[in-house]
Amino acid sequence: MGVHILHFIYLISSITFILGLKMLSNPKTAQKGNLIAAAGMVLGIFATIFLYEKDGEHLGNFVWIFGGMAIGTIIGTMMAKKVKMTAMPQMVSFFNGMGGACAAIISIVEYNRLAINNTSFDGTSVGVEAIGKLMSLFNGGATTPTPAMDSISMHLEVLAILLGLIIGTVSFTGSIIAYLKLEGKIGDKSLPGQQIINIGLLLGMLVLIGWLISLGYADMGYISILIGVAVLYGVLFVLPIGGADMPVVISLLNSFTGMAAVFGGFLYNNQAMLTGGIFVGSAGTILTILMCKAMNRSLTNVIIGSFGGNKAGSEAREVGGSIKEISMNDAAVLSFYSQKVIIVPGYGLAVAQAQHTCHEFEKTLEANGVSVKYAIHPVAGRMPGHMNVLLAEADVQYDKLLEMEQANEELATTDLVLVIGANDVVNPAAKNDPASPIYGMPILEVEQAKNIIILKRGMAKGYAGIENELFYADNTRMLFGDAKTTLQNLLTEVKSL
Ligand code: NDP
Repeated sequence: MGVHILHFIYLISSITFILGLKMLSNPKTAQKGNLIAAAGMVLGIFATIFLYEKDGEHLGNFVWIFGGMAIGTIIGTMMAKKVKMTAMPQMVSFFNGMGGACAAIISIVEYNRLAINNTSFDGTSVGVEAIGKLMSLFNGGATTPTPAMDSISMHLEVLAILLGLIIGTVSFTGSIIAYLKLEGKIGDKSLPGQQIINIGLLLGMLVLIGWLISLGYADMGYISILIGVAVLYGVLFVLPIGGADMPVVISLLNSFTGMAAVFGGFLYNNQAMLTGGIFVGSAGTILTILMCKAMNRSLTNVIIGSFGGNKAGSEAREVGGSIKEISMNDAAVLSFYSQKVIIVPGYGLAVAQAQHTCHEFEKTLEANGVSVKYAIHPVAGRMPGHMNVLLAEADVQYDKLLEMEQANEELATTDLVLVIGANDVVNPAAKNDPASPIYGMPILEVEQAKNIIILKRGMAKGYAGIENELFYADNTRMLFGDAKTTLQNLLTEVKSL
């Protein structure tokens, strides 16, 4: 009876995930969607703790379970409360890594159980039972699996454990490296022959998995070699990824964690974990494909590592010329008398927390008959959808946001582009300089507009660490200062016109 209730609760949890995901696609419903999905997850966790049963036995170890949950809840809540909006991407990476680590630990525990129970694979886990049932469907509905079916399903179970282990481990170590890179604690580093090493490690993991399955018994000593190789691959695959290409890696690691959770769900016959993992895995995969498209990169290059970054033997072109500044008053006049203004938000807008002032500036211009829109580059900021989230927080209407392709069609007929704290996403080197690490990445082609004003504090480079020739263009003027202060001053000037 308890098992039926448990499966019914898993169904409810899965429905809340679907609902939550659907609601996340709109900023107005996103917060509620997040809460609904989280409530479903809490329900699934408690149902598992109290109702899960195998061979008439329930879970025990409540002190350990609730002790662990309490510590995790306290640390997670404190981190989430303390984190600054600009450090959100690092935190997401860190939490993603924790998900990968959990999946890897589940695999280690399950493999250890196989090793302790029996030196040969004995097929006692629910995963084996589930596969056995599934296979019996293809065997004329035979209720008792044949020895051949048993053997296949047992090997499949070990395969699931080992895949969960390597994907979870790679996701954990890769996410921690991504976290350290986003924190600015480590830079891009690549070894000579990096791609060959990465391909070697990938092949090594596959060979090890094949060998461990063929052993026919579980041995914790051998599995540590696999863990070691996966740790090394996770580190080496993210370490060389060049500045601007980090978004692709982050979404790929996200999908890895989802896939690793799927294997855990399968091992425990836990449908809530399975569906949750499938959603994270597939959403992460779709995002990775979109990010690859946005960056004009191939997924194979990401997986074998070493794309982006400085290409060996090539130097990015020197950028020269003189920059031209604009006064606050001239910038206000130019904004006020333009017919069409496009705002390009970037990471600096998030750092300055200038989204609310920006929205007020936009409304003031609109009230004076100026058409104002926002051009959103898919990798602007430091996490996928960063600018959408930031502008939604300030209640900017969604229909004011132009995607990159739409924006590029409109830029040539735009009187003024205000680039607020963006740099790499408007850098023409992506089109003109084959030696540049961002070469090939589609950008917002703001240089087509009649006038460009750049709001930033100084001449610092963007995340990719390269100069930007746009700042020296004839139709560009620089307006130096913190984006929020500058926008506030600009707003005051515009209101006084
Ligand atoms: P960039 O990092 O290229 O540039 C941001 C600019 O903002 C800097 O040049 C900085 O110049 C300026 N800035 C910083 N603080 C302020 C402030 N308070 N006021 C005004 N300006 C400020 O940002 P983009 O958004 O153009 O590009 C994002 C980059 O990050 C891309 O290279 C992308 O690949 C990468 N990335 C994106 C991720 C994602 O998922 N979206 C994840 C990881 C990396 P100054 O200091 O002179 O003011």
